Amino acid sequence: MTKERKIVIIGAGPTGLGCAWRLKELGCRDFHVFESQSYVGGLSASFKDDKGFTWDVGGHVLFSHYKYFDDLFDTLLEKRYLSHIRASWIRMGDRFIPYPFQNNLRYLPPEILLECLMGLYRISLSPGGKSGNFREWILEIFGEGVARHFMLPYNHKNWAWRLEEMSKDWIAERVSVVDFERVLRNVVLQKDDVSWGPNSTFKFPEEGGTGAFFRAFLPHLKGHVTLNKKCVRIDSKRRVVFFEDGSQESYDILLNTGPLNELAAILEPADLEIQKAAGQLAYSGGMMVGLGFKGEHPSDKNWVYFPDDKTPIYRLTYFSNYSRRNAPDEEHFSLMGEVSYSPYKEIDKSNVINEVIEGFVRTGVIEEQWKKNIVSTYAIDVPYSYPVPTLGRNAALGKIVPALEKLGIYTRGRFGLWIYEIGNMDHSVMQGVELADALLEGAPQPTIAPYKFLSGEAQ
Ligand SMILES: Cc1cc2nc3c(=O)[nH]c(=O)nc-3n(C[C@H](O)[C@H](O)[C@H](O)COP(=O)(O)OP(=O)(O)OC[C@H]3O[C@@H](n4cnc5c(N)ncnc54)[C@H](O)[C@@H]3O)c2cc1C
Repeated sequence: MTKERKIVIIGAGPTGLGCAWRLKELGCRDFHVFESQSYVGGLSASFKDDKGFTWDVGGHVLFSHYKYFDDLFDTLLEKRYLSHIRASWIRMGDRFIPYPFQNNLRYLPPEILLECLMGLYRISLSPGGKSGNFREWILEIFGEGVARHFMLPYNHKNWAWRLEEMSKDWIAERVSVVDFERVLRNVVLQKDDVSWGPNSTFKFPEEGGTGAFFRAFLPHLKGHVTLNKKCVRIDSKRRVVFFEDGSQESYDILLNTGPLNELAAILEPADLEIQKAAGQLAYSGGMMVGLGFKGEHPSDKNWVYFPDDKTPIYRLTYFSNYSRRNAPDEEHFSLMGEVSYSPYKEIDKSNVINEVIEGFVRTGVIEEQWKKNIVSTYAIDVPYSYPVPTLGRNAALGKIVPALEKLGIYTRGRFGLWIYEIGNMDHSVMQGVELADALLEGAPQPTIAPYKFLSGEAQ
């Protein structure tokens, strides 16, 4: 029975912590989490700088698809969190347009509004269903106007990838699609329409940033988590993991939550099929830039998308609006900008803070004279930021995941499983929780169940 087998978990991000929590809850004692960093939370960690500003790794908001996750959040944070109604916008030229763009076209200048409406009208006449990739899908669903002014430039900026190499299958609830009658009604009746989507309300810890949630796991997992332990080699025959500091640990079952391509590279004996498939997995990185200002909060917005090239960022977060305690006091506020990069979209990391500041001025987010009120700057380089859902992703995962499971190695999480559409914090925690349920109780894993290729079944 698995309760008596030793489970080793690589990574103390949401997936690893979720799994550890559930293993303990189910009465398993022989499990341990090894984390390469000196902190927990992975991409969902938060940091406080020496000026008293708290920063996330890019804008994180908590919205969940699971009761288990919501209850865990309530328990661990003891209800010390804030609930917000989303106020998200798109900045185009000199104006802010409420999100989702296509439902709020009335904010556009007349020529662009007409172009968008004509495009939507034309596609409403066509049967559709012919698109084979993300780029074609955008044109087919949104028409030329919305595609040209928002969807194509924004998605290129966000993903830093060629949209024609991306699949359209991940979209489901991640992109708001179009109801032409609703669009027309909103334009003619001059109506705002902002409530679409799973994150129309969200939660945020009162203090300590998003990472406060993940730090709160630690007291409950005493003796089960070791930090500063980077796994650098896995002997899959003897079932031993080796760490950078020369130590090693045996396991019966291994859960990997770090990037899957890196796991493939440290597996011994090397499996060339796995390595080759892992080489097909695409990703982009991001520079997350924080700016702390002295001054009054300038806006009640939560976040803003930027499709055009006046600024390098694809998204701005008014981070001290998530919690006033993300700034040192009421006399300060904070903004966070995200800049993506990849081999298709190279950036000058050494100058990124300046470029973000200048972009804020050019797009009217801040005024030129506010620059002298910047009291803190922060930049985090995230090499793995978005797991890109490319056309070849499912086939690659269909080769890797079942082959690893035969070796007693499970891989889960944002980059562990590389499935963007189930790569948020709630999905990640639940992937870990559900794996524990499966290992100990033989229970199904609903989050990954729709992805038949993970068990080697057809796509
Ligand atoms: C810019 C950005 C914005 C986001 N916004 C949101 C949002 O608004 N809402 C939301 O729900 N989610 C959001 N996410 C996603 C969220 O960050 C992830 O869902 C979550 O952190 C994934 O958890 P994970 O445990 O799978 O992976 P990670 O967070 O990547 O954690 C993996 C852990 O494994 C460790 N590790 C890796 N390799 C090794 C090794 N060899 N040895 C030991 N340890 C190792 C890493 O250090 C890390 O701590 C966002 C992500 C990004 C990048």
